[in-house]
Amino acid sequence: MDLINVAEEEVFMKAQINSQVKKQLKAKVIFVTGGVLSSLGKGISAASLGALMEARGFKVRLRKFEPYLNVDPGTMSPFQHGEVYVTEDGGETDLDLGHYERFTSLYTRRSDAVSTGQIYSKVISKERRGVYLGATIQIIPHITNEIKDHLVSDIEDDVDFLICEIGGTVGDIEGLPFLEAIRQYANDVGRENVLFMHLTLLPYIKTAGELKTKPSQHSVKELQSMGIQPDVLMCRTEMPLPEEAKRKLALFCNIKPDCVIEAADVDTIYKVPLAYAEQGLDDQVLKHFSMEAPSPDLSIWQNIVERVHSPKNTVNIAVVGKYTGLQDAYKSIAESFEHAGIANQVKVKVTWLNAEDLVDRAAVEKAMLGMQGILVPGGHGERGTRGKMRAITYARENKIPYMGICLGMQLAVIEFARNVLGLKEADSTEFDPQTPDPIVKLITKWQNREKMERRSTDTGLGGTMRLGAYPCALTEGSLVQKIYGNSKISERHRHRYEMDFSYEEALKKAGMQITGASPDGALPEIIEIKDHPWFLAMQFHPEFKSKPMAPHPAFKDFVQAAENIKQGN
Ligand code: GLN
Repeated sequence: MDLINVAEEEVFMKAQINSQVKKQLKAKVIFVTGGVLSSLGKGISAASLGALMEARGFKVRLRKFEPYLNVDPGTMSPFQHGEVYVTEDGGETDLDLGHYERFTSLYTRRSDAVSTGQIYSKVISKERRGVYLGATIQIIPHITNEIKDHLVSDIEDDVDFLICEIGGTVGDIEGLPFLEAIRQYANDVGRENVLFMHLTLLPYIKTAGELKTKPSQHSVKELQSMGIQPDVLMCRTEMPLPEEAKRKLALFCNIKPDCVIEAADVDTIYKVPLAYAEQGLDDQVLKHFSMEAPSPDLSIWQNIVERVHSPKNTVNIAVVGKYTGLQDAYKSIAESFEHAGIANQVKVKVTWLNAEDLVDRAAVEKAMLGMQGILVPGGHGERGTRGKMRAITYARENKIPYMGICLGMQLAVIEFARNVLGLKEADSTEFDPQTPDPIVKLITKWQNREKMERRSTDTGLGGTMRLGAYPCALTEGSLVQKIYGNSKISERHRHRYEMDFSYEEALKKAGMQITGASPDGALPEIIEIKDHPWFLAMQFHPEFKSKPMAPHPAFKDFVQAAENIKQGN
């Protein structure tokens, strides 16, 4: 057992006696909870409130508490949980952090998402090290203290609002410690420094011709029974919320009528900040905190929505992936296309193709009919790689714009090696450890290798990952350099295999060039094919950095190139 760290021990001795939160934040804290059912769009609500506060000149931070028990969201199946979103500092987090970044000027951090599993494992590890000096470890105060400590950690003094979303639905067993911790937090710092916002659903019952308030009343009661009185109720509805329903909710839920806010369905998520502003959400928030600020400047959002509504053209893009049944698994890619559409004033129609259905050339040709661009996204494991490679062959031979991301780059290199260089067994050692031509293999020679994250080996996904933002140097005169308008870029990574530089000469002779690499020259990052209208693939994930007001240049240019391809190809 490790020796007890004396300073840490002292802190925790105090914690035993005093459950008061460690630090008083200068920031006002807004907690966002959800009721009635999941998938109401709490993440987008929190993010939109962040957008409104930024539009009023405030500095915000957004965070998420995740009730699930997984310690490492990086190992969770995108099938179940949607995409793993990677932050600049290499955190593998929940897709809601992507919403936070897309709606605000923020770059989120690893510390902005924390799960029950992470909180428990911290507490258990402290217990193992003897930090609690034999005390009985309990949910209150040990778990709740750990949650509160996390809440206030890594928040700068100039932040005006910390918006913290609690995952799951009120009433879930897993969420209870978080709700208890935020209740305590409000008590610790004073109710005037905290706002509880609850997102709920008002179902429309056709036969009665009415929006029903009862499920919302119940979920508010549930919150109240835990000592939390919501200050603002956001009501998701398909219909405009009648005054009568507002009054009823205000009365039964003990909320000011002006704080019962309609959150009607909208045709694009980027309309949500505008819709909330129209309903006066930001005014109510400021009023709650007795704060004043100039009216919000919403011109960015108005401009975005106008462009979404007036496309000049439709561009058809095929995304060939493994998790195509669940669009959330590729959320940031879907949003990046939306942004590229906004930038080019076109409607990007994405067709999600399951790679395993692309069993032969005929299947590919049929699926690709009318497609003007093909994208192969990141992925792990061999399943679907054959179909993905068939799609790449099709794009390469038929001169359809191709964009490859991470695995989509590695497969483009393998496809080229096999079909152009004639190295029939070329492969990644991820799929064939014995291949005579390991053109993609485990990262070995990179100088910064020690910076790679070591994953816990008991997950079965043990090993190392290169995670987060790293610089990349672009070749002068390349397509990618023209696209970025820059020779040095920084992008986010999440991979453990790399393309092997030793094949560079052979590839170059046959027409595939490496046009981007880590500045130390060790890791290839980008390849392009010269004799092709647009064939660009990258080891990093550009989709994590695209915002509606700042579309990613690679997606923007890809969609533009696709627009130039005739639809009936
Ligand atoms: N499986 C590949 C690797 O680990 C690709 C990863 C990815 O596409 N994110 O290198």
